[in-house]
Amino acid sequence: MKIFSNFESGNIRIVKAEQPDDIRLQINKDNQSEFYQWFYFRLETQAQVEHNFALLDLAKSAYPEGWKDYDVVASYDREEWFRVPAQFDGDTLRFQVMPEQCSMYFAYFAPYSCDRHQDLLHQAQMNYNCTLETLGSTLDCNDISLLTIGEPADSKKKIWIIGRQHPGETMASWFMEGLLQRLLDETDTVGRALLDEAVFYIVPNMNPDGSIRGHLRTNAAGINLNREWQSPSLEQSPEVFLVRERMLRTGVDLFLDIHGDEAIPYNFVAGCEGIPSYDERHARLENNFKQALLTITPEFQDDYGYDKDAPGQANLSMATAWVGEQFHCLAFTVEMPFKDHNLQPDAFYGWSPERSLAFGQDVLAAIRPVMAQLR
Ligand code: ZN
Repeated sequence: MKIFSNFESGNIRIVKAEQPDDIRLQINKDNQSEFYQWFYFRLETQAQVEHNFALLDLAKSAYPEGWKDYDVVASYDREEWFRVPAQFDGDTLRFQVMPEQCSMYFAYFAPYSCDRHQDLLHQAQMNYNCTLETLGSTLDCNDISLLTIGEPADSKKKIWIIGRQHPGETMASWFMEGLLQRLLDETDTVGRALLDEAVFYIVPNMNPDGSIRGHLRTNAAGINLNREWQSPSLEQSPEVFLVRERMLRTGVDLFLDIHGDEAIPYNFVAGCEGIPSYDERHARLENNFKQALLTITPEFQDDYGYDKDAPGQANLSMATAWVGEQFHCLAFTVEMPFKDHNLQPDAFYGWSPERSLAFGQDVLAAIRPVMAQLR
């Protein structure tokens, strides 16, 4: 029996793995950081034998409540990712598997590879009004890639959508893939209608270093990018620095920041109610967008989510708050679950790449009803 994590995004540490009935593992911290929660490893073993796993020391993980009612994601072919039931006692996550094949992958959520990310970028650029551009390099010398979609014109709204500030939240990449598919589909009138009135600036992966390293939350230097928006630097957060510079040049009329939430088993959005400039117009815009999304899909709800910030209490170092304040525009953090969307639960797959992709398409469609009000 062997356990591997020697691949892109891999993360596990073996404590004990001599007998299938007693496999003990730990998750490595993000580099220069205390955060840990993302895991991804491969088991090579004898099929049709029961294996007992214990994932240890989770009380000190980034989101201990994330393990409650969480089922492990697994795959034999790296295409279909299904759930393996797990039990959490407050510190240890236990799960039992009888592998059908000799090699089996386990992860916190369905991984999204760098190759697939490059395919996404380059298939997008084949569209006649999509341009792929590298804004600069990360600390590990990976690309910060921007897609500009639509013909720029002063009269058009500027819509910015970014994902994967937190690299362990891979559902954000699946969401981006769905959103781009719909926006670029020339037979889909939704995308065409949006592009008549807006230019889209899309950064599908804000944190390629963390993605490759198998981090949960930080970049190569252990920096949480979603706390860098007030004063980013090329030395520690070039990802935010470069994207922010471009935003200041283009302007922003709508901003979406795509994430996954470890603990809350629902899709939801978090808005700007705590920023200093929040007013009735901003509140009405937020409400109209949420109403549109509620109408479009049962995969969205607005009853469960984060506690709302008190007036003036927003953390302006976070992307959504900084952009909303800087540009006086509609800005949302979009959160998807690691577990499931409990209004439409799926015991076999839970929240999945396919549902993230479809949700990306639906969120795109919800922009159209508010487009005229954005500026
Ligand atoms: Zn996040």
